Formats: sequence, C-alpha cells, structure tokens
Amino acid sequence: MKYDLIVIGGGVSGMTAAICAAERGKKVLILEKGDRVGRKLLATGNGKCNLANTASTVGRYNTRFVDEILAEYPLGAQSEFFLGLGLLTRENAGRIYPYSEQASTVLNVMRAALDRYGVEVLTSVGAERAEGHYTVNGKYHAENLLIATGSDASFGYESLSLVYPYGHSSTRRIPSLVPLITDKTNLKGLKGIRARVKAVLCEGEREISSVSDEIIFKDNGVSGTAIFGLSSALARHALINGEAEIKIDFAPDLTHDELKSLFSQGIALEGMFHKEIAAAVRRYAESEKLSNEEAVKSYVLKDVRPGSRELAQVMCGGLVTDDFYSDTLESRLSEGLYASGEALDVDGDCGGFNLMWAVASGMAVGKACGSK
Ligand SMILES: Cc1cc2nc3c(=O)[nH]c(=O)nc-3n(C[C@H](O)[C@H](O)[C@H](O)COP(=O)(O)OP(=O)(O)OC[C@H]3O[C@@H](n4cnc5c(N)ncnc54)[C@H](O)[C@@H]3O)c2cc1C
Repeated sequence: MKYDLIVIGGGVSGMTAAICAAERGKKVLILEKGDRVGRKLLATGNGKCNLANTASTVGRYNTRFVDEILAEYPLGAQSEFFLGLGLLTRENAGRIYPYSEQASTVLNVMRAALDRYGVEVLTSVGAERAEGHYTVNGKYHAENLLIATGSDASFGYESLSLVYPYGHSSTRRIPSLVPLITDKTNLKGLKGIRARVKAVLCEGEREISSVSDEIIFKDNGVSGTAIFGLSSALARHALINGEAEIKIDFAPDLTHDELKSLFSQGIALEGMFHKEIAAAVRRYAESEKLSNEEAVKSYVLKDVRPGSRELAQVMCGGLVTDDFYSDTLESRLSEGLYASGEALDVDGDCGGFNLMWAVASGMAVGKACGSK
C-alpha cells in the first residue's frame, strides 16, 4: 500500500496535518512512537490546554520564519478548524482554552476526526529510518513525508536525524520555558516563596529581557511565569554557561526615591515583604554594601543556566528553517518532504504560542499535501 502522506509523530501538529490532508481526500498514515497519540497535548496548560492567544503573534517567536504561515492561519482560521472538529473554546485573559478546560477534550475531537477521515494510526511504531521518496522503516511507502516529531522537552523524543540523509541539519537544542538554575548564595531562606516582581536577564551590563510577573524561589534556582519568560531569552541567546544574571526588583511599582522616602518615614522591609524576602534583602544589602532600597530594586542571582530538558515545555532549536519554504513547509532539498511544529527551529513564548505554531504549521502542510 502506498500512502499520499506519511506523518511521523502523532502530536498536535502531525494530527492537524493528517486531518487537513485527509479531508482533502488523501490517504494518510500516522506513525507514533508512543503508545498513544497526543500525549504531550494532554500535559499542556496544566492539563487545561492553553491552545492559543488573542494577542498578536508578531515578535512572540525566536524567528520571523513563522510570520507567513501565522498570517495565513491566524487565530480565526485555527478557531474555525477546531470548530469544524466540534470543539468549543473560551477565552481567559487573552488565553484560549477548550470550553471544558480539559486538554483531553481537544485530543478527543482530533482523534474522532482522524477516524472520520480514515487516517490510519499506528502507535508504538517509532520511525527509525527514512529512505528514497519515501520509505519509512523499509516498509511504509508514501509520495510525501512529514516529520512532526516535536522535541525531547519534557517526555518527548529527539528524532531529527531521520531527515539528515536528505541534507537537512538542526541547530543546537536548549531547554526553554523552563525553571532556571542559579548560584545558591542569594536563594538562602527563600525556598517555596512566591512574589510578584520585575525580573531582568542581563549579560554583564547588557539587558537582554525583562518580565514583570510571578517568581517562585526553589532550592537551586527560580521558577514561575516571569522566569519562564526569561528562559526563552536565555535559550535564544544561547547563554548556557552561567554568563547571565537575573536582577530582581521586588517593588517594581515604586521608584528608588519613593522607596527611600518610605524607609525614611519608618516603613520596614518586614512591613512590605514576606519576612524571608525582607531578611534576604537585608543580608544582600549588608554583603554588597548597598542601601536597602538599592537591594530591593536590584537583588542579583548569578550564574544563571537553563533547567533540565525534563522540566522544559519546549526546546529552542530544531531543523534549520532556511531549508524549508516558509509558505508550505516543504523541504527545499527534497521534494515531498515536510516539517512542522516543534521539529523545526521555532519556539514561541508562553501563553499558547507554541500550540498555535504547531496547529498553523500542521494546517499549512495538510493543505499543501492535500492540494497536490
Ligand atoms: C508540560 C508542558 C506544558 C505545555 N503547555 C503548553 C500550553 O499550554 N500551550 C502551548 O502553546 N504549548 C504548551 N506546551 C508546548 C507544546 O506542547 C508543544 O510545543 C507542542 O506539543 C508541539 O507539538 P508537535 O506536534 O510539534 O510535537 P509533540 O506534541 O511533541 O508531538 C510529537 C510526537 O512525535 C512523536 N515522535 C517523536 N519521534 C518519533 C519517531 N521517531 N517516530 C514516531 N513518532 C515519534 C512523539 O512521541 C510525539 O507524540 C507545553 C509543553 C509541555 C511539555
């Protein structure tokens, strides 16, 4: 049996491509290494699945390569796609979730669509090699091949070498949207404490990125929404050897002078912050010979490194995008070969942007193969 399209990887991107090609009458096979499709999808958004975001997607990725496809398949087109599968969504502060707030609902409608359009799905079948145009594992043949293998962030697999024989290559993969490891000196006493701060990632004097949001202190580093934001910047700048530091401003809504005035009026550190934060700031001010207001506004964690890939939501890095057409995602090196989702060197910000890319890129490939 020869298929029109073999999809390697039954994640959200591969399933989307398969549905879009099959609804155009193509014979599609999905090969999934895991024992079921969509396992990572189930873990997204703490099980609620933050599918998309109403904010502009411009500037929310490591690369402008995404622009053409996200313009062709913006939020509206993605919502229509999911509506067509029978999925109702709702918005919360710009983030789009399934109405049920359960990732399993998204997976269920996608699986039903795969069934409806006659997509063949083989689970527990890992693609080990691809040859010619195109044979996978020596026994599955197709006119077109999509590599939608995602990344090894969290519990995924690294399978990009499957397309190296076709001349493709990949950039180094670095964990992103991940807690950051830091020097422990200034973490003392803070484990488990949460605060709303402005966190700034710096390399020497250079400010690389800043995020105002929640930070969570851990015994070996920091986590929380603010830190996830900084971790993208750290990975995209490949600052993995401890050359960066994080400056924390514990009172971002107050200027240095306002703080100074408050302290001179008798406001205590303990009257403003969690007692452990107050104690840490006091220790830091003493050791660095700073005023309390300086220590509050610039509390430094040194030797910043990305946390492990097991804790990451995505990997920064992947197949070199220049080798693919930015409208269809077909390879420039091998006709009929495609890549989508996180397999490509594309990583998005926190807030639904990674699933948006996975879905849009899957739609683009499904349409390109379906129209042949
Ligand atoms: C804990 C967690 C929470 C997240 N939350 C969000 C969120 O709320 N919003 C958001 O936008 N993003 C989120 N993400 C990121 C998002 O899940 C991914 O970016 C997205 O799933 C990528 O889709 P994909 O289809 O490219 O890859 P995946 O979903 O990873 O799918 C790839 C599939 O390919 C299979 N595979 C790999 N190698 C082979 C092989 N050789 N043969 C056969 N099959 C293979 C894998 O088993 C996998 O099923 C989260 C990620 C994690 C880990």
